[in-house]
Amino acid sequence: MAVLPIRIMGDPVLHAPAAEVDEITEEIRTLVADMFETMDAAPGVGLAAPQVGVPLRVYTYTYHDDDGVPWRGVLINPELWMSPPVPGEPDPDEESEGCLSFPGERFPLRRADRVIVTAVDLEGEPVRIEVDGWRARIMQHEFDHLDGILYVDRLNDSDGKTARKIAKKRGWGRPGQSWLPGVDDLEG
Ligand code: ZN
Repeated sequence: MAVLPIRIMGDPVLHAPAAEVDEITEEIRTLVADMFETMDAAPGVGLAAPQVGVPLRVYTYTYHDDDGVPWRGVLINPELWMSPPVPGEPDPDEESEGCLSFPGERFPLRRADRVIVTAVDLEGEPVRIEVDGWRARIMQHEFDHLDGILYVDRLNDSDGKTARKIAKKRGWGRPGQSWLPGVDDLEG
């Protein structure tokens, strides 16, 4: 297993739709093992294959709240249904999220509170997940990556402007930029 470099906003693989996985091969198993290791090293609560430069519809996630058991897995070729987001401005304290491809920053974003995701797991078995709250946010964020959408693309005008300024200042927003968890430590 290996910790993989994480692509930063501006790299084309993050901004184009990813392709379906045709077959769960040894390469896919290795990719998923590396993604778990990379996600944990970052650390992050989710990681989509395009973030490590692989344009396939695969993401890993991990989360545990104060009293819960760890919730963790990999989804291949997911489909997602969501409840309508509640209208209004997001609360910065309760609804801010971050992204390993826009590291070190957090911005508020209104998301749907409830989602259903269907997919297959690493054994090719069907999976159905129905979650709310922060778990639903993780699902929407990672699913967006598979469609070439970053959460910073969804921010309101003012936060979107701030994000663009930060990106410019750091020299992001162009191809070929990445960071390596354990070496660059841009998160956590
Ligand atoms: Zn992300």
